[in-house]
Amino acid sequence: MLACETQDAWTQFLEYVKTKCSMTAFGNWFSPIKVVELKDGEIVLEVPNVFVQEYLLSNYKSELCAFLPVQANGEPAIRFVIAAPQQRATPAIKMNPVESSEDHRGNRQEIHLNPQYRFENFIEGPSNQFAKSVAMGVASRPGKTYNPLFIHGGVGLGKTHLLHSIGHYCLDHHKKLRIQYTTTEAFINELVGHLREKSIKEMKTRYRNEIDILLVDDIQFLQDRPNFQEEFACMFEALSLRGGQVVITSDKPPSHLKLSERTIGKMEGGLVVHMGVPDLETRVAILQYKAEQRGFDIPHKVAFYIAEHIHHNVRQLEGAVNRLCAHSKLLGLQITEELVNKTLREMFQLIPCEKVTVEQILKSVAAVFQVRVSDLKGSMRNKEIALPRQVAMYLAKEMVNESLSMLGVSFCKTHSTILHACKNIEEKMSADEDLRRQMASVRRNLAG
Ligand code: ADP
Ligand code: MG
Repeated sequence: MLACETQDAWTQFLEYVKTKCSMTAFGNWFSPIKVVELKDGEIVLEVPNVFVQEYLLSNYKSELCAFLPVQANGEPAIRFVIAAPQQRATPAIKMNPVESSEDHRGNRQEIHLNPQYRFENFIEGPSNQFAKSVAMGVASRPGKTYNPLFIHGGVGLGKTHLLHSIGHYCLDHHKKLRIQYTTTEAFINELVGHLREKSIKEMKTRYRNEIDILLVDDIQFLQDRPNFQEEFACMFEALSLRGGQVVITSDKPPSHLKLSERTIGKMEGGLVVHMGVPDLETRVAILQYKAEQRGFDIPHKVAFYIAEHIHHNVRQLEGAVNRLCAHSKLLGLQITEELVNKTLREMFQLIPCEKVTVEQILKSVAAVFQVRVSDLKGSMRNKEIALPRQVAMYLAKEMVNESLSMLGVSFCKTHSTILHACKNIEEKMSADEDLRRQMASVRRNLAG
């Protein structure tokens, strides 16, 4: 992308944001941002402080990706510089309570939750159904079901969305309970602030005694920070001892985190749930839902086309919807496969080719279910063979970039048999934990 196009893209981004947030929010968060440099494929933005940077990235990342250049890893290609103190504007920014001073503490209204991140806006599919229902369980009976609840999974799969949903639900339904939502970064910043001001005791007292529900996002950022870990562990333990509900998200399971064994043990002591990449149907549903929310309609066939090409995470899907809707609006064009090819081509290119083959899936399924590959390919109908065969079909549909008819050929079956198998497995998965576990180990084998 050329520099002048980037400038245009930034202006277009601001125009788009104006339609999405209040004038006050725009004045507070966006007006102070200055473009300092435009290069091919990168934009350098000057922000008055790190909170503006964080706000931009946590609330508008998908829109930034949609309008501005993106790096190969899908992150927006933006370099932030913090304005020198003498030039610093003093926007009337309302900070997250965790980052702000005493007067906000304990004030429920100040909890910084994304208004869109609610259970009602969370699309379910086999990959996230379990996590969503557990999160709903915890939200309806905090401290009484799974405590702590630990949600882990890759980037952009809806962990923060679920965490905020728990927060919203509790704010709406448990008015007497005191809720604290914090990102791990914000927790560390708060700790640093209190250490500097020698008021650490106050913070400890609050976390230990004055919070009923603690929601902590992205605990992986606590790794390699032993002092902060120690403080976190003490507060977390004290709160748990009082029966306070703790919900934690992370990009990896507790056992893979570089934290003390004791803390890991505590995290594993409750319920650990995994969120996976949504399957094709769920991705289509998410795309259509997100477009509908923005007042656009993506035809089913076009949504399938996009979902087949964007299968890494939901954030990318959201970025695709934003980009597509913005272009459709600006150019006054219907959303068609042609427009998709024009506007989303770059995003499609970012997605590496799917390397998993049907043969690999069959081998992995055969190993986990202790059957023979030849039986999976055959036509025996007994349960011991039919179920793993359907699992293989389900995984092939999700992971192999082939049409249903081609997959049918690989299994010596018709495309409707594959569809039927997928439906059956989806239904079974929601009720059968053993099956979910077996499928997870097939996936692990394939990933390894
Ligand atoms: P994570 O915290 O796992 O990195 P987020 O919760 O930030 O991911 O999700 C990234 C974006 O995708 C958010 O805008 C979120 O609303 C959206 N998203 C993720 N999963 C879903 C889902 N199942 N239904 C609707 N939106 C989703
Ligand atoms: Mg997150």
